[in-house]
Formats: sequence, C-alpha cells, structure tokens
Amino acid sequence: MSHIQDLEKQLRKASDAYYNDENVMLSDKDFDNLRDELQKLDPDNAFLKEVGAFSTTALSKVKHVIPMGSLDKINTEKEFNTWLTTLSKTVTNEFDRDILIEDKLDGVSLEIVFYKGKFVQAITRGDGQIGDDVTHTIKNAKGFPRKIDTDNEYVYVRCEAVLLLDVWKKHFSDTTANPRNAVAGLVRRTSAVDSEHITCIAFDVEWSDDEVLAEYKKIEWLREQDFNVVETEVVFGRELSNLPQMFDQMLKRRDTLNWEVDGTVLKINNLSQQRKLGERDGRPKWAKAWKFPASGGHTTLIGVEWSVGTQGTITPVAKVKPVSVGGTTIQNITLHNADEIERLGIYIGDTIEVIRSGDVIPAIVRVVTPGKKRVKIEITECPSCGTSVERDGPRVICPNNNCKGSASKRIKKWISKRNIMFLGDSALNTLECTGVVNSIASLYIMTQEKMVAAGLGGRMSEKILEEIKKSQNVELSDFLGSLSIDMLGRREAANLVTAGFDSLDKWENMTVDDLLKLDGFKETKATRICEGVQYKWNEIQKLSMCLNITNPKKKEKKMSSSLESVTFCFTGKMEHPRKELEGLVESNGGRVTSVNKNLTYLVIADVNSTSSKAVKARKLGTTLISEDDFLDMIG
Ligand SMILES: [Zn+2]
Repeated sequence: MSHIQDLEKQLRKASDAYYNDENVMLSDKDFDNLRDELQKLDPDNAFLKEVGAFSTTALSKVKHVIPMGSLDKINTEKEFNTWLTTLSKTVTNEFDRDILIEDKLDGVSLEIVFYKGKFVQAITRGDGQIGDDVTHTIKNAKGFPRKIDTDNEYVYVRCEAVLLLDVWKKHFSDTTANPRNAVAGLVRRTSAVDSEHITCIAFDVEWSDDEVLAEYKKIEWLREQDFNVVETEVVFGRELSNLPQMFDQMLKRRDTLNWEVDGTVLKINNLSQQRKLGERDGRPKWAKAWKFPASGGHTTLIGVEWSVGTQGTITPVAKVKPVSVGGTTIQNITLHNADEIERLGIYIGDTIEVIRSGDVIPAIVRVVTPGKKRVKIEITECPSCGTSVERDGPRVICPNNNCKGSASKRIKKWISKRNIMFLGDSALNTLECTGVVNSIASLYIMTQEKMVAAGLGGRMSEKILEEIKKSQNVELSDFLGSLSIDMLGRREAANLVTAGFDSLDKWENMTVDDLLKLDGFKETKATRICEGVQYKWNEIQKLSMCLNITNPKKKEKKMSSSLESVTFCFTGKMEHPRKELEGLVESNGGRVTSVNKNLTYLVIADVNSTSSKAVKARKLGTTLISEDDFLDMIG
C-alpha cells in the first residue's frame, strides 16, 4: 500500500471512530497532522473533500448552507398587538394564524449537521451566514442522537447549547457569572475540556423534506428522533388575545426550570403561511422573540480595567458610575472575556443596563443609549508586562511565561491556599515593588532586615515571618495543588497521591500514559497536568528545598498486595454486605471503580445477565465473575 493510501486509511478509520463516539484512536493533534500531510502529498484526495475531513482543533469558519437568521424582538404587549395586526393583513384566515410558542433558551445557538443520517458537524450561529466549527466540543455534548432516521442527504438541526443550572452550580459557578457565559466558553474552546457538561436542546430542523406542514410537526419529529427539545405549545388563531397573559405565566414559571430562559419565541405554525409572509433583511416576518423584561438599573460605562490571572488569562472588569440595583451599589462588573464585550456591543461612554444575575452577581445586559463619544474597548498589551496579547477562543492571554502580573497572582494564590496571615495585598505589593518577593520560593528566603528596608514595620515583618515558617510544613498534595498548575487543584493532587504518586520523584517521572490509566483522566487533563508539572519542575524542586513536605500515613495497613492493579465493580444482590466486599478488595491492594475500560472484574449475581451494566462491561472486555469466584480469588 502506498503511503498516501495508508494515510487515507488511517484517517478514515479515525474519523469513523470519532463520529460514532467509539474509543478515539488518534488524538486531535495527530489527526490534524495526518490530514495536513495528506493535504500536502495529495491535495485532490477524495477524503479531504468529505465533510468529516475538517480540522478537529482550530475553530475554522464555516458557511451555513441555510442561513441562521435572527429574530426581531418584541418588548411590550403593544408591540405584540401591532405584529398581530400586520400578520392578519397577509394571513387573512384566523385558522391559519395558529402560533407555536416556545421557550427562548439563553445559551449558544448552533446548527448540528447530519449527512446520510450521521452526525458530522456542529457550527455556531455566528453572524447567521458564517459560524465557527465547534464539532470538537459538541461531539461530547448531551441531548442529541449521533444517528438519525432519514432519507434526506443533509439534515440541519438548530439547537441551543446550554449548561443546566445544577451542572453550572456544581462545576462552574465559582469561575463564571452565569450559565450562558460558561457554556459560550466551553463550546468555543479550542480544547474539548469539560465539553461533556454541555447539553443541546433542539428547536428547529431544516431539510429538503417538503411533507411537513407545521412547525410543531418538526418539534414532534425531533422528539421522536431522541433530541432534547424545547417546551412548546400551540395557541389557536382565535385565542391569540390570551397570549400576553400566557407570557406572564411563563415569566413566573422560569424560576422553576433547570435552564435559563430569557423570553419566548412566537412562530406562525403553518409553514405555507410562513413562506407567504417571507422575510426582511434575513429576519422572518412570521416569527418574533418576546424577551422577558430585566429589572435593572441604568448607568454609564466609564472604563474597563484588565488584569492578568494565574494562568496568564487577561480578564476585563467594567467600571461604571455607582448605581443601585436591588439595594446594592454596583461599581465594578466583570466582563469575563473579549467575546462578552463583542456580544454586548458596549463602548466606554454608553448608557448601559445593569442587573444582578441570579439576584447576586452584577452583570451588564445591554446598551440603553450609545454614548456621544464612544471609545472602543480593546487590549493590545498585557497590563502587567506590556507583552502583546494573544487570543485563544474567547480568552485574551499574555504569552509571556515570566509575566510579573501572572507570577504575582500565583504568589497570592499560594498565600491564600497556605493560609499565611498578615501578608495582605498591600504588604505583598510593597515587597514585590522592591524586588524582595518575585516568586513563591522567595517568600522562604526573606529576612526581617530586607522586609524593613522595603518599608514594612518591624513587628509586622516578624509576624509575617512566623506565619511563613508555619506554612513550611505542608502535605505533598497541598503543596502541588497550590502551585496554580492548570487543572491541578488540591483535591486532584490528593487523588493522585492516593493513586500512588506519593513522592516528588514519582511526580517527576509521571507520564500522560500513567494518568490515562486512572479513573476520570482524559487526554486533555492528563496532558495539561503532566505538562504543567514538567514546566514548573525547576520551581517545584527549588521550593521543595524550602519546605518540609509530608505524606499522610495510610489510614489502613494493607493486609496483602495480591490484588495490586486489579479493579472491581460490584453490582446486583450479593450474599455479603457491599461494604464488606469492597473492604476486602482494598485491604488486598485492589481498587473499586465503576464500569469503564480499565475495569478488570465485574462481580455480578448472574454472570449471564443481560443488564445494561453487564452488556457494557462485556463490550469493554471486562471479565464477569460471581461473588463466589471473587471470594475464591482472595482465598
Ligand atoms: Zn504579562
């Protein structure tokens, strides 16, 4: 087989696995490298022209085959009535004026493309004509089937990518102001980290099938095909005067939902009437978005302050004229990232509306009146070190590895995680400005003389030094988890210590493959952690010499290690209590886990069971054994 044929074969195999959600055979980077090579050697190769040949990492621009238009908005009952009057001029029969109302979800609008019934691509709405290819994140999302039953060559499903409120609260509420911001970041990230938390909820479908007569039939079809779909209801043409009341009810209902709804969408149900009404400037005349009112305050945007974080991400904070919203005076509002600024379309000088998102966190919702002198909000250089900034999806980053601002944030994080008292922002700032402190390790070689010379009081310096001395005793996991290594917090570090990485030597030699063998580690996380540890190794070593790093004693002494590196999962009814069986596994050096590809034995009441767990385990190559088999095994 020629090299070109071989390349094509590998790519096809990997691409099939990718779309069918089987075990990924090539990393995204390897896939792209192979594809680039094929592109170079054989630019006319058939594979490159197929839909599956797109890049898996970069957010490449894609043109929508059918444009994703946006909707005109209605804000008041009066505007709604005006629309009804306009409608009735074209759609004269009341029976043809049935309206489908559906929840307007507050997330990221997407198009999911199916080719010959198979999921092949996901594209953001973008400007309606051209969007970003986000297949690499959406392929991991929940809420839609990877295969559909259709005779159409292409099917385009429109949906909203959202984070369910409980998911947001659990995983992202610390780092993002609201679910919308969080999901926007996840969808458009160049890496697919955390993309399994995204949920897609469908609201429309486009195809060449012309047998569908009504909007609600599309929703029914989507539901039959196993898509998550939005809540909908048909209001008869003769009952449209009730709609404003229904709108009020929906407004009240929204607090009970597990996703954020920012209004309702109204569509003429009858598709032939839709065609008759047509569109204007890409906006359909047969549909409107009725937005829920936001109860906020109006104020002026007077500036934006950018600051660099522990990982070099630069985030903007809006400065506004003090305004009272819900009894709290607001002056600073985080804008999260550059995309958020673009989405809001805000300029310095604008009058803006400010709300408290989830009744707590201040957020800008819209421009009320553009300012007379509008100043564009932009950033070209890192506010700390002056290096030219770079963009990574929605994030702005300082690419300077020695950025002082970023280093300062890491020192602050260490101080807070290690609970070092008295060394507050202003004292630290004094020490940093005079060069006494420039890294975490420098805290541990500081002397009282140097601190006093820098401008701190003698007694204060003494107290700080006592605190720093106390912080020298640190457990291995707390040490590694406080170093601002991407994706490595203290809990994750503790997991790894428990999993056997219980000395610095082991951390130094840790590989991505080692981590992939553990539960809960996927390629990206494993790579980030290993790279982070390697990258910081000099600092880790230097710092470890200033500290007294301890390892907590194992709670239970192992009785034997006969089951070392063997994993078990128990399911169904057992003769012995579950806890007792699991205890036996652990005291013999084995591990209890769920059904996954690293599971060695599934202990099950009936080894011939066809339960979903049993089927999955067999598929993954796990051996199914009975409780007696298990007890024999440990002797
Ligand atoms: Zn910088």
